[in-house]
Amino acid sequence: MHTEKLDAGCPKDIARAGEILRNGGLVGIPTETVYGLAANALDGKAVSKIFAAKGRPADNPLIVHISEFSQIYPLVETVPPVAERLAERFWPGPFTMILPKSAIIPDEVSAGLPTVAIRFPSHPAAQAVIDAAGVPLAAPSANTSGKPSPTLAEHVIADMAGKIDAVLDGGPCNVGVESTVITLASNPPRLLRPGGITPEELQSVLGEIKIDPAVLNPLEEGEKASSPGMKYKHYSPKANVILVDGDFDQYCDYVNTHKEEGVMALCYDGEEASLEVSALSYGGEKDYQQQARELFDALRELDERNAKVVYARCPKPEGVGLAVYNRLIRAAGFEVIQLG
Ligand code: AMP
Ligand code: MG
Repeated sequence: MHTEKLDAGCPKDIARAGEILRNGGLVGIPTETVYGLAANALDGKAVSKIFAAKGRPADNPLIVHISEFSQIYPLVETVPPVAERLAERFWPGPFTMILPKSAIIPDEVSAGLPTVAIRFPSHPAAQAVIDAAGVPLAAPSANTSGKPSPTLAEHVIADMAGKIDAVLDGGPCNVGVESTVITLASNPPRLLRPGGITPEELQSVLGEIKIDPAVLNPLEEGEKASSPGMKYKHYSPKANVILVDGDFDQYCDYVNTHKEEGVMALCYDGEEASLEVSALSYGGEKDYQQQARELFDALRELDERNAKVVYARCPKPEGVGLAVYNRLIRAAGFEVIQLG
């Protein structure tokens, strides 16, 4: 299949993306979080092509994207007042809520669950494509399953060229990690995946929020995942990523005494010069938003540089840093060296 390259700044290309989606095709689209691989959410056959292109396990449900709050009503059973309050505060934006689904949501979208995840993205091109398609769009991240999520159109092309109808290039994604996901199908609401909206921000609207244990810890053998995506190895470059938890001096000492062939460092900005191996940074030590924006591109670059083992500075799990930690610890398969 030829994959068309479209420009998000060009109205004709937005219209073309909408046409492909209405006709049951797949388009990689920019959003403020990461690039999504979109299909008509109301067309089970179109949605099943997403799973084939990504190699995504069939039991991992998708998020449905809308371009106006009122579009949520036909997709869910009811919209509770708390959902309205959350939407008022966090939509449009990097925030997803899960509610009991209505009958028009195909099983392919919800992966057989009785619930559906809904998001109203803030990226103008994402909104324009949903409008042009005239239907809600099911869209997981546009990477091959298991790989780091795409934050540039080039990443989507690297994974999906020849497998999807088009990619709409809207430049780099501003948030850089996937949306915050909470479920309102349990009481109190539960955070299933941290993202650009922090637990503190959620608390300010909800009063109380439970953090699902799978946010920070691996699932126990045989344990059921509340969010099926949590159980899979994720975000991984080919290299063996290992988190190193300690202060900068401890990290430096560790890396500089483990500089075997193929070892690389994934450090904070400005630390490269002290390291005696090839190093790549993913943001300032305290700048969690920059870390979120740069992490996935850095993980892809490690592959391009043929890293075999990557010692990564362990992000601080606070604020948006919680989302960075959640992604990086999965990229590392929960392997952490404690030096502190
Ligand atoms: P992705 O779109 O690739 O970022 O993945 C969507 C994430 O949302 C995955 O971790 C899914 O498991 C989760 N998700 C989507 N729908 C549901 C749902 N109905 N219940 C629980 N988790 C969901
Ligand atoms: Mg994903």
